[in-house]
Amino acid sequence: MQISHWHATLDRPPLPAIDLPATANVVVVGAGVVGAATALWLARAGLKPLVIDRQGPAAGASGHNGGILSAGLAENYLAATARYGKQATRELYGLSLAGQQLLVELIEQERIDCDLRLHGNLNLTIGEAQLTIAATTVAALQADGFPAALLDRDSAQELVRIPLGAAITGGRFNPAAGTLHSGKLVYGLLEAADRYGAQFCWNVTLHQVTAAETGLRLITSRGSVATGAAVITINAWSGEVLPELSQRIKPVRGQVLCTMPVDPFIMCGFGASLTPTGEYGQQLPGGQVLFGGCRAVAPDQDVGVSAGEVSADVQHALEVGLGRLFPTLAGIAIERRWSGQMAFTADYLPIVANPLPNLFAVGGFSGHGMPFAAIVGRHLAEAVQTGTIPSALELLSCERETLIW
Ligand SMILES: Cc1cc2nc3c(=O)[nH]c(=O)nc-3n(C[C@H](O)[C@H](O)[C@H](O)COP(=O)(O)OP(=O)(O)OC[C@H]3O[C@@H](n4cnc5c(N)ncnc54)[C@H](O)[C@@H]3O)c2cc1C
Repeated sequence: MQISHWHATLDRPPLPAIDLPATANVVVVGAGVVGAATALWLARAGLKPLVIDRQGPAAGASGHNGGILSAGLAENYLAATARYGKQATRELYGLSLAGQQLLVELIEQERIDCDLRLHGNLNLTIGEAQLTIAATTVAALQADGFPAALLDRDSAQELVRIPLGAAITGGRFNPAAGTLHSGKLVYGLLEAADRYGAQFCWNVTLHQVTAAETGLRLITSRGSVATGAAVITINAWSGEVLPELSQRIKPVRGQVLCTMPVDPFIMCGFGASLTPTGEYGQQLPGGQVLFGGCRAVAPDQDVGVSAGEVSADVQHALEVGLGRLFPTLAGIAIERRWSGQMAFTADYLPIVANPLPNLFAVGGFSGHGMPFAAIVGRHLAEAVQTGTIPSALELLSCERETLIW
């Protein structure tokens, strides 16, 4: 399996780990960005959570993603409005915007060194039709009070120091966005949780959760744990443990490449719709260009494919696509390639579930989990303390009508 840029450049001492205890106050299962944020909120509340993961921190999507922290939904605002309705879309977008801001606050409060750059995100448009959609999207976002700007080609070019591809007509700029080092973010959140009393146990796989007299029993690969409550944040793997989510969350492989370093040329994160499944990228502080997407060229769009290897078709499409956006980068040498496990739902929104009393679960971020991590984590920590999922997460309920394949 190819190592991601985030894991290759983590440069952090290992987090302290303990043997699996027989009992715990509350257990967080999964040490991705969502589990790490949930653990931090629980630890801040004095609940001394135990975090377990079948590998270790950032082993899943969080350690293999594009590192873009962008307020918004996995779907375009207009498509989302058609699917969920105007009011729900506005609330969901508001949740992601609040979540993006909350994660920035957590990073600042806990002094997490994760290369956070709040420099916005430029979604480049290709051809006139995409520019028209971008204009309508920006108008709808602005009408609902969300930050967004439409750029013509010249204004988009001002944010990029090398020539844009000939087909680029402009772009949609999201000021409520930034880029960061996902691996350092997860470690930093867990290090902060550690300071408030969280404990960690790695290489433990959760197999099953059952109700017990005084709470829950977690059956794992290293024995069982009796606990008062648990939060399961295993995203693409949710269905392996929770049967009610197995038909609702599909694992999908996402692929990324990272070029050799080039001179700084872009001031923000970037994206495009070169293919129907979309592309995203950023220039890393070291000068490398991270670029991901192009699933549309893979058979079945890499749905149901486990991350691990990368495939030649998608990687070739990424190289060609990068050259279409920025012609001087065509043919540039590639430093590394990797893939990661995304988790899709039928309506591109995560699912929050409460399958047993005091058992909460979230997964299915559909390739766009970073802006939700801190806020969903905070609400799930609240759920552990009250026994009920807060109404702020109601639109992510397992029972929602749009959740049909
Ligand atoms: C290629 C790629 C690019 C992406 N780009 C972006 C982006 O730029 N911006 C953005 O917002 N989102 C992006 N995403 C999506 C984002 O990374 C995810 O939404 C987010 O990381 C989900 O975090 P999580 O904590 O829910 O899950 P994960 O990070 O997947 O963590 C789940 C954890 O659970 C553990 N686990 C699994 N099963 C078990 C078990 N049975 N017992 C114990 N532990 C278990 C795993 O080892 C893993 O550590 C991308 C995803 C991919 C794959």
